[in-house]
Order: sequence, then C-alpha cells, then structure tokens
Amino acid sequence: MVKSGKWHCVLFAEWALLVVLLAGTATAAVPAVEDVALVLSQADSIKTSNHAEFAELMQRLDNEATKMPPEQQLYLRYLKAWQVGYGGDYETAIPQLNAIIAESTDATLRFRAGVTVITLLGIGSHYEEAFARLSQLLDQLPQVTDKYARIQGLSDAAQLYIEAGQYDLAASYADRLLTENPTGEGACKGRYYKLYALYNSGKLRTVDQQFQDGIDACINVGEFLYANGIRARMAGIYIQQGEPATAIKLLQRNYADTQRTHYGRLISQFDALLAQAYSREGDLLLAQQFARDAVSSSVKNEYTEPLTSAYQQLYLIAQKQGDMEAALTYHEKYMTADKGYLNDVGARALAYETVKQQVMAKKLQIDTLNKQNQILELQQALGKKAAVTSRLYIILLLMVLASIALWTYRVKRSQLRFMKLARRDGLTGIFNRQHFVEEVEHLLLYCRKSARNACIVLIDLDHFKVVNDTHGHAVGDRVLRRAVEACQTHLRSTDVFGRLGGEEFGILLPDCSLEQAYRRAEQIRLAIATAATGDNAPGIPISASFGVAVTSRSGYELRGLLIHADEALYRAKREGRNRVVVSEEVEGRLKTG
Ligand code: GH3
Ligand code: MG
Ligand code: MG
Repeated sequence: MVKSGKWHCVLFAEWALLVVLLAGTATAAVPAVEDVALVLSQADSIKTSNHAEFAELMQRLDNEATKMPPEQQLYLRYLKAWQVGYGGDYETAIPQLNAIIAESTDATLRFRAGVTVITLLGIGSHYEEAFARLSQLLDQLPQVTDKYARIQGLSDAAQLYIEAGQYDLAASYADRLLTENPTGEGACKGRYYKLYALYNSGKLRTVDQQFQDGIDACINVGEFLYANGIRARMAGIYIQQGEPATAIKLLQRNYADTQRTHYGRLISQFDALLAQAYSREGDLLLAQQFARDAVSSSVKNEYTEPLTSAYQQLYLIAQKQGDMEAALTYHEKYMTADKGYLNDVGARALAYETVKQQVMAKKLQIDTLNKQNQILELQQALGKKAAVTSRLYIILLLMVLASIALWTYRVKRSQLRFMKLARRDGLTGIFNRQHFVEEVEHLLLYCRKSARNACIVLIDLDHFKVVNDTHGHAVGDRVLRRAVEACQTHLRSTDVFGRLGGEEFGILLPDCSLEQAYRRAEQIRLAIATAATGDNAPGIPISASFGVAVTSRSGYELRGLLIHADEALYRAKREGRNRVVVSEEVEGRLKTG
C-alpha cells in the first residue's frame, strides 16, 4: 500500500498475487452465468487468491451485466473498479469507486469501495486525502456488520496509521482485528499489523513467540506474503542482535517462495536484508550481489528502506574494496534515496497531523453551531414571555458571545499548536527538514540581495548506528537530543538550525565567511565530542563529522550549497570522522591562512 514503511513489505499482498496470476488469465470461451449472485460473491472471494479464475468470472459476469438488477450491477462495477485499481490505474479506478459510493444503497458495498479508494490514494501518495477519507470511514465502522468489510477497514486503518508513525493507534486497530477474529484472515492480519506496529515503535527488540504465532496464523489462511513479511522482520532483528547467520538461514529458506511472488517490495526487502547479513558475515561478494538485486527488484520511482539500505551497502563495499569512484557514486545514490525516503515519511506524518487538525476544527465548529442553536431555541421560547425576559435576554446575549469567544479561542489555539508541531522535529524540538529548507531559502534570498556571504554546515553523527545497535533506540534518541543541545550552546539567534533526518543536521550561518564558519563548526564539533551522555547512558563516546559550504563558491541556491557541503561531509567521513571539512577549492587557503 502506501509507499514503504520501515517494514512495509506486505502492504499489498493481494497485488503481488494479482500480478502473478494475471499472466494466467483465461481468454477462452465464456460460459453463461446461471446464478449471478453466487458468481458475484465467488468472484469477490477469490479475487486475491486466484486471479486467473477471477478474471474469467468477471468476463462472464460482464456479459450478463445488462440483465442484472441495479444493486448487482453496482457490485459488479465495484469488482471491476477494484480490478482496474489493482492493475495500477488509480486515476481511473478512484472516480469509478466514488460513483459507486454515491449511487449504492448498500452500506457494506459503500464502505468497501471507500476502503479501496483510501488504499489507492495511499499508493498514489495522496496522503492527506487518504487520511481525510479514513477518518470519515472510521466513523461508519460501527454500522458495518459484514465481517470481511470490517477486516478490510480495520487493516487499512492499522496500515495507514503505521505509515503516519501513529503506532499505538495502529496497534489498537490490530487488537480490534484480533478480538473480532480469533481465527482466519482477520487473525493473520491482526497479528501481522500488531507486530509491525510494535516493531516500528521500538517495543520489539527480540524474536519471541508472537512471530511464530503470526506466521502460523497467516500460513493457515494461505496468506504467504504476510507470513514472509513477518519473517523479514525477524531476520532484521537477528541482524541487529549480531546473529547474521540465523538471518541468512531464515531468508534463504524462504527466498525461492518470495521470488515466485514477483512482489517487488518483499523481494527487495529480502535482498537488502541478505546484503546486510552477508556483509556482517564478511562475505562482501555475496553482499554486493544481493544489494544489486535489491536495487533492481525495488519498485520504480519509490524511495524505500530496502533501496536506501542496498545503496548504503554498495557504497560501504566499494569503499572497503578501495574503489573510490564507485563508492562516491553509490554514496550519492544512498544520500538521495535516504532523503527521498525520509521526505516521504515526513509527508505522511504531516498529512496525518493536518487531517487530525482539520477534523478537530470541524468538530469544534459543529459544537459551536449546536450551542448557538440551543441558545436560539431558548431565545424563541422565551420570546413568548417577552415582558419578563428583558433581563434574561441580556444574560443570553452574553452567553452567546462568551460561548463563541471560547470556541473560537479553542480552534485558534489548536491551530497554533498544530502549526508549531508541523514545523518542529518531534524528537529534538528543532526545525524539521521542511521548515529548515523554507527558512534557509528565505534567508539566502536576503543574503543575495544584500550581497552578504552565508555558510551552510552539515553535521552527521559518527557511527551512530553502533550506538543504536549496542544500547538500543531509546538511548540513541537521548544521544541525539544531547548532540542537539551541544550544538545549541554555540548558535546565535540569527542562525537557522534543523534536523534534516535521522542523525543529520544542518545549520545556516548568515553573514559569515568560510573562515568564521570553520571556526564555529570546530567549536560545535568539540562541544559534541565532549558532551556527556547523561545518567542513563554513561560513557557513550559520540562525535560528528562536518561539511561546510559557502555562498561565494556555491552560489545562493540551497541545492548547490547542500551538494557541496555534502561532498565535504563525505570527505570528513572518509578522512576518519570527528572533523570539519570545508568545500574543496578554498580549503588550501583556509588551511594555510
Ligand atoms: P557514519 O559515521 O558513516 O555516519 O555512520 P552512522 O552509523 O552514523 O551512519 P548510518 O547512516 O549508517 O546510521 C544512521 C543511523 O541513525 C541509522 C538509524 O538507525 C539511526 N537513526 C536515524 N534516525 C534515528 C532516530 O530518530 N533515533 C534513533 N535512535 N536512531 C536513529
Ligand atoms: Mg547519516
Ligand atoms: Mg552517521
């Protein structure tokens, strides 16, 4: 479904099967349909598990379409729109599904069409609309009694909330799936999403019985892609725990099955994990081969976690082999993929917050209107006894005013809170990437107009993965906050500081020469390197590498500045980390100056 979560592999298990099975679509003679209702529900029930037969039934049903009563025609139209959407043509399928929602009187069908629309919106990266529709759909959930429609709706909610980083919310929908479905398809999906949400929220660090239970539940109902999705996560944990051999065994045992699905997302995830595991084992050749496979099996035009990880492996391997040219090329690809992936993650989280805010504002508006209506009704009732009520009128008027003022204040307050939220990074409280970019572009424009120099400093913590792997994510998060605090002690009020993603930060120093920027970066570097990591994580050494670029060389376009700073940062890493490197041409002058 929605582009690539951390553990996104079986977002659309059904799709894979579809692609595989489409190949076998029958085009032979088309026998007539005797019992339309039966064939419709038969087609529906096999549409993901046996696509060839589904396609054949659809063809037969199509011939009968004109003879069907309206509700059956709508059901058939739903199945056809589903077929179109899952074939990849979202732009055609979504209006078709919307028309069905508008025309049908069958609540279940309307709900199912709604879920399919949300899924397609997510795949097409229309996150804001997807969340808006989801919120409407969840309001209808209490009225939906059809078991499979509920599974569809609850699964979609769990999936989307994971994509938005709302893991507790996602886990609660997974729990609901499980309570409603102790066995069957719902049990498989419930367990799958529960594990998915728990893992992403950092609450699952070891492989326990839940994994095998999930795999069993999915195999029981023939959902092999979901089972392999769970296995991929298990392998990820084994690698993190320093047991790459166990991960390799698990992945290789299920590798052929995964290949047969032709499902790009899962295949590239398996490949990327194998690349990681072999690289840990020291088998660089196999690692390289699987990393290349991960790149070619990944979904086109999508930045996913496996793609990022594969490029990272390729660059590290090239570096180890001393092939600096290849290392540089792969590093660039790695950076682009990493940024693309993080941007997508950010876009989803922002879309979720935006919609939450809109829904809240709307609810407040409705509440306000209700209040005003109540007061108006009261007023009318009182109007009949006009003589006695003049004093009451004044009180009423004041109440109306106070009530409106209070609700307006609450809407405004929630909007302000939201706007602040949308600009800040949740972990460190500094600007997020999007807002950093906006602020910096604004400032650069000003510097250009007033012909002043500005410098950009990129900071990337060194070997941060090791901190995470050794001490866990929670400690990693604390270290990140420490590093940010260390930076802040050396910033001026005019500097712009932001988290660009992961353990990477950017600072714009306006009105600053390269020499000054170098000295200030050095101060910050020292501050980070000497920052204590607090009571809960004593003795964890941290350091960071810095890349600096200046407008006089790179121009006033942020893009150019970032590219040069990135190159410098890359050199800082290569030359041993924990150092500041300035963008090339002027370096000699700096060092000798
Ligand atoms: P290098 O010196 O080459 O930069 O090595 P590195 O390990 O720092 O680089 P790499 O990019 O491989 O690792 C970055 C790690 O940062 C990977 C990821 O697990 C971790 N990370 C990213 N975002 C967060 C976060 O929000 N919290 C925590 N705890 N870790 C994060
Ligand atoms: Mg990094
Ligand atoms: Mg790093």
